[in-house]
Amino acid sequence: MMVKYSQKSVDKMKDIKNFINGEYVTSEKTFGKISPLTGQKIANIHEASAAQVNAAVAAGRAALRGVWGKLSLPERVERLYAVADGITQRFDEFVAAECEDTGKPMSLARHTDIPRGAANFKIFADMVKNVPTEFFELATPDGRGAINYGHRAPVGVVGVICPWNLPLLLMTWKIGPALACGNAVVVKPSEETPQTATLLGEVMNQAGIPKGVYNVLHGFGPNSAGEFITQHPGINALTFTGETRTGEVIMKAAAKGARPVSLEMGGKNAAIIFADADFAAAIEGMTRSVFVNCGQVCLGTERIYVERPIFDQFVAALRDVAAGLTPGRPEDAATKLGPLISQEHRAKVLSYYELAKREGANVIIGGGIPKMSGDLAGGSWIEPTIWTGLSDQARIVKEEIFGPCTHIAPFDSEEEVLARANDNDYGLCSSIWTRDLSRAHRMAQQMQVGLVWVNSWFLRDLRTPFGGAKQSGIGREGGVHSLEFYTELKNICVKL
Ligand code: NAD
Repeated sequence: MMVKYSQKSVDKMKDIKNFINGEYVTSEKTFGKISPLTGQKIANIHEASAAQVNAAVAAGRAALRGVWGKLSLPERVERLYAVADGITQRFDEFVAAECEDTGKPMSLARHTDIPRGAANFKIFADMVKNVPTEFFELATPDGRGAINYGHRAPVGVVGVICPWNLPLLLMTWKIGPALACGNAVVVKPSEETPQTATLLGEVMNQAGIPKGVYNVLHGFGPNSAGEFITQHPGINALTFTGETRTGEVIMKAAAKGARPVSLEMGGKNAAIIFADADFAAAIEGMTRSVFVNCGQVCLGTERIYVERPIFDQFVAALRDVAAGLTPGRPEDAATKLGPLISQEHRAKVLSYYELAKREGANVIIGGGIPKMSGDLAGGSWIEPTIWTGLSDQARIVKEEIFGPCTHIAPFDSEEEVLARANDNDYGLCSSIWTRDLSRAHRMAQQMQVGLVWVNSWFLRDLRTPFGGAKQSGIGREGGVHSLEFYTELKNICVKL
């Protein structure tokens, strides 16, 4: 499906409603969705009131008491498979909606966002079907003994607060396991990316997910749907992906009622490239890691350390890659780079581009705004940017920027680069590029992060733990680790 961002789409302004108890509902207040491609308003979004949050939480609770809470595991699994198939059947609509909200290239949404969004339902349905609980036999003085077994129950109504960078993928990464474990969810998509979460409501209804299990409320954080959800006493657990600053606020809200919280937050990820690495593979990996999704990926690399003998060659090769990243419309096959999500985010990224100059960086390429023509002139476009020459203490090397940019620095020894890579408040992920596997293992085990890739980047097996160390997160999701968060594990002890 081709979507053109012309006056025609503005004339057919979309109305994005909340989805509560299986129905689309309007709110008194609305706000505009601005296209990152053109700067034009493309939709009205209904901003959920506190009363609507109450209604969604009540609907979730009723669903748990009703049909949803009584479904057998095979029936639940079957319906989650139907949700995944429902997304796949409407693949083009989901791709178009995601690209309209984010401006990302359709090739990326087709390859990653939407297929992974669908897969998250099947992966976690299979997980709950196949994962056993523990069992212990206990000897007792009367010789009869006792048995203990674990039983997993849903935690209840889960509040799900989502970011804008990979909207459907990151939301389903949470609601896939939440629903597989038998919970109900109250979801707040980012105010920047309301469409795919809303569209998913139709798929849920068609797949036979009972009313009230999946609720979507639109709005902002403070004094809006985000705060209403996180502070609602009827929400039993909170899962969040977004900035560390916001995560801290959500953690405080979760403290009221001592509710469990799962936080996936920011990063300032380092890549370490040794001189013996497969050079072409390292360049290919860094190309994706720095520039894909216009650098708006939590796992992206904003610090690259390159062993000195190949430093100049590496900088030149990555510069050549950046020079070839043609910005453009999502549907154009030639497009390699979309815009940033909003003017506001571009102002933040540009402020770092200016800061880099003040901090004395060598600007290898980029550093500004590309010239776009026609209706694209109003979009939040930005140049891919590479810097060298800064100290590890520069703010550019310390703080998350979340744009298509990276700093490259040379290093001389393993011990030195390990200490430099670990010298950061964040600890989400890192990648190590070398043919010396002993060194790779040795270093990987000492990296203060939640995920390490060796000779790859963003190669995800969804059965494995995902999450950040230090200020990048609390808890792990993925595979059985998601079950830890989305279920209450009970021990049942039976005296024989
Ligand atoms: P953000 O923190 O600004 O917003 C995330 C969500 O929180 C939005 O839905 C927003 O409306 C809501 N929110 C904001 N304030 C709130 C409040 N006080 N109470 C309740 N909800 C509130 O993040 P963003 O700009 O949407 O996303 C980019 C950030 O997300 C980056 O820092 C990135 O590293 C991080 N991220 C992390 C991961 C990960 O897995 N670790 C994945 C993707 C993105």
